[in-house]
Formats: sequence, C-alpha cells, structure tokens
Amino acid sequence: MSARTKIKALLESGKTDIDVTVKGWVRTFRNNQFIALNDGSTNSNLQIVVDFENTDPALLKRITTGAALSVSGRLVESLGKGQSVDVKATSIEILGDSDPEKYPLQPKKHSLEFLREIAHLRFRTNTFGAIFRVRNTLSFAVHTFFQERGFVYLHTPVITASDAEGAGETFHVTNFDLANPPKTETGEVDFKQDFFGRATNLTVSGQLEGELGAMALSDIYTFGPTFRAENSNTTRHLAEFWMIEPEMAFYDAKDNADLAEALLKYVISYVLDKNKEDLEFLSQRLLDEEKQKPQNERSEMTLLEKLQFCLNNDFERLTYTEAIDILKESTPNKKKKFQYLVEGWGTDLQSEHERYLVEKHFKKPVILTDYPKEIKSFYMRQNDDGKTVAAMDILFPGIGEIVGGSQREERLDKLEQRMDEIGIPKEELWWYLDTRRFGGCPHSGFGLGFERLVLFVTGMGNIRDVIPFPRFPKNAEF
Ligand code: ATP
Ligand code: MN
Repeated sequence: MSARTKIKALLESGKTDIDVTVKGWVRTFRNNQFIALNDGSTNSNLQIVVDFENTDPALLKRITTGAALSVSGRLVESLGKGQSVDVKATSIEILGDSDPEKYPLQPKKHSLEFLREIAHLRFRTNTFGAIFRVRNTLSFAVHTFFQERGFVYLHTPVITASDAEGAGETFHVTNFDLANPPKTETGEVDFKQDFFGRATNLTVSGQLEGELGAMALSDIYTFGPTFRAENSNTTRHLAEFWMIEPEMAFYDAKDNADLAEALLKYVISYVLDKNKEDLEFLSQRLLDEEKQKPQNERSEMTLLEKLQFCLNNDFERLTYTEAIDILKESTPNKKKKFQYLVEGWGTDLQSEHERYLVEKHFKKPVILTDYPKEIKSFYMRQNDDGKTVAAMDILFPGIGEIVGGSQREERLDKLEQRMDEIGIPKEELWWYLDTRRFGGCPHSGFGLGFERLVLFVTGMGNIRDVIPFPRFPKNAEF
C-alpha cells in the first residue's frame, strides 16, 4: 500500500506543490469534477479536483456518495472558495463501491432519530464524526488528569455478586438453561449450581471495590462500563454507560468536591483546545437547531460560550437544606408549575428542581451537599446532626446530575448501624467492612457519568447520540 496522508495532517501541514495519496469516503461529487473526501481525521473535507475530460466515464460513474477511494495527486492552492487547498487527482482507485440507489446516507440533513436506526453508518456524518472525536479526546483527558496526579487506574470487575449498594436495578448473569434451571428442595432457583456458585449480576458501580484499592494505593480511579436495568426511557439514562469513579484516601468532603470541579474544568479545557474545529461545528449545529424554537426556549449562550463559562466560574456550593429553602420560595413552586411541589425537607430532588437551581436560579454548575441520610446510600458518612450525610451531587445546566459522590463512612460502628437500619446483610459485605477493621481512614470518592459529560460538551440533547451503540429498553441492535 502506498503511503497515505490523513486529511487532518495534510490540511495542518500548510504545504503545497507536493505529491500526496489520500484515502477516504466520498461525501459529495459535484459536476463530475469536485469530490468532497472525508477520512474521519477531521470535520473538514478535502476537495479533490478530477480531470473529467481525461478520465474513464465508467470510473466517474463509480464515484458516488459513500464510496471508498484512494486518490493520488498534486496538493495545490485552491482556486475555489471554502478551502485552502485541493488535490488535483492524477489517479483514482475505487476501493469500495457504494450504490447510490441503496446507500441510506444521502447528502442532505437526516434526523437524529433516523440516524440512530443506522448507527452503523452515522459515524460518516459531520455531527457524529465530531461527537466521537470529542468523546475520544474527553476519555484521554480523563486519564491524563488522573495520571498527572498520581492516581492508579484500577480495573474493577464487570461481574459481581453484590448489588448491595442499591444504585440501580441489575442485569443477572447466569449460565443456566433459562427454561429449566436447577431448583432447590423448596422450589427456588438453585444458584449454588450456577457458574459462579452464586447469583451474579453486571456491575452497577465499581465504587465498593474501588474503595478497597484506595485503602492501599491512596488514589485510584476506575473508567469502565456500568450496567443498570433502568426502565426509565429518558434522554439522560442508558442501560450500559461508562463511569469514572475516583476513590481517594485521606480526602474529606471538601477535597472531594474540589477534585471533581478540577476534573470537570480540566477535561473541558482540554477538549476546547484539542477539538476546536469539532466544537465550533457542534456549536453552530445547536444554533441552527434552536432557530426552530421560540425565542424564549433558546439558549442564552452558544455551546462554546457555555463551555468557556464553566471554566471561568466557580461552581456554586450549597447544602441540600439551603436548596430546599430556595426551591420552596421559587416562583414555579408558588405558582404550582413544578410537577412535584417542594413542600418540606427530606424528599429527593426531581430533575425539574435540579434544573431550576442550575439554569434559572444560579445559572451555573452547582454542587449540592449534605443530603438527608434517608435518600442516600448506606456508605455515605454521617454528619454530626444525625440527619444528613456528607453526600455531594454536581448538577450541570441542561443535564441535571452529572456527578454523585460522598465522603465514605470510615467508622465501623456507624457503618454497621446504618446497614442494620436499612437491612443490608453485613456478612455479604465482609470484605468491604474489613477495610474499616484494619487501618480504616477518612476517604471520599465520586462517580462521573461519562456520557452525561459528553452530552454537555457536545450540546447534544439525547444520551443515545453520544455513545456509539446505545443500549436502552427494547434495543440492543448492532
Ligand atoms: P440519576 O438520579 O440521574 O438516575 P443516579 O443517582 O442513579 O443518577 P449515581 O448512582 O450517583 O446516579 O451514578 C453516578 C453518575 O452516573 C450519575 O451522576 C450520572 O452521571 C451517571 N448515571 C447514573 N445512571 C445513569 C444511566 N442510567 N445512564 C447514564 N449515566 C448514568
Ligand atoms: Mn439512577
């Protein structure tokens, strides 16, 4: 194979009058003369100029939208508008034909819903090319952030026996013949005979195992797939999503919030720097989309302004109790505009409340802390007031909850007492409790939903559009 230059490198090189070979897929072919070629390395297409008078008409016919080509020619300054360079083709090879009658991606605007049905091809659109390059950069930025700070990347198991955390409904993992599983004498499914000798499920969170790592390595993070049989068909939930879960020894609740804010700012700044062109494209896409909406529903800031705003402002920090006071006095609550009215202390916040705080009241990211212990998990550290725990949720505009975390309860007696209160079997979590028996120490951690981060950064409206192949109720295509 001849040496091939990626289009991004070629456009950035600033060179002209050199011979090049490029490979990619045809986006459009105009006037039998101009090919817009894209190879996914950048949002920009490369214009190929075809000497059609001296090209075999049979070959010209095969240059169709979607076809894969190898083109060799001379890189020259462009005479046309809209691009700085062209390639004057001296040879064109069709690597893969694409029947224009059958190719589902026409050179026109397709709806996101339609593109979801052809998720195997949607990478070839400008929008999805940009989204998945941004997603790639964000994941690299996450690793870079933690690696620069001496965190150890820990791989926690995908198959676990505990769902004690209660983070969500689990998917069972079994080797049984479902039509005919072995039964116990009392007629229940006998998991002792299953592959692992017990009932197992896909992980809903790597946190508990992550804590074990932190109790020796000091600072760890996980970054892997997480599974929840969420029946909520929302634009914010997937059944399979990626989560980043750092756990840090010797961190208190404030250290935890500081780290989460620093992480979010770091990765946003990183991607603004590395994927400027993609984000400019996505920002414009959002502007165009919002033109269809009435004025009062449009965003006050463009996507790029919103990302920049996030970097330049401290996140607002307040307690759950303070948030409830704000919500109780808010106009939508008084005018009964909320679907769930905020009446008293103790209830969980609905996403409409979270979004009111972030989008209307503070107009910036918010870190909410110290929630009532009843609505949070057993492992969160109990505050001295006997009512609240050292929890923190980070709420983002347009997204709602993006991070959930807490200082962890390190005091064995308090932890066991809480487990007893809510009926979590201590024997099953003997290994978790051991870290409190042997050299326990104050520690904290949080979970950042990666797709919610990508959603925020790309300005997309549906979480199904920021993961290559989304898993949600009644769908596991591709
Ligand atoms: P929510 O209330 O939005 O369902 P949660 O309280 O269940 O979130 P956690 O258990 O704290 O969330 O999980 C940590 C993070 O993982 C959340 O802040 C969110 O960013 C992300 N997350 C949780 N569930 C999902 C899901 N089903 N799909 C995508 N991301 C999710
Ligand atoms: Mn949930």
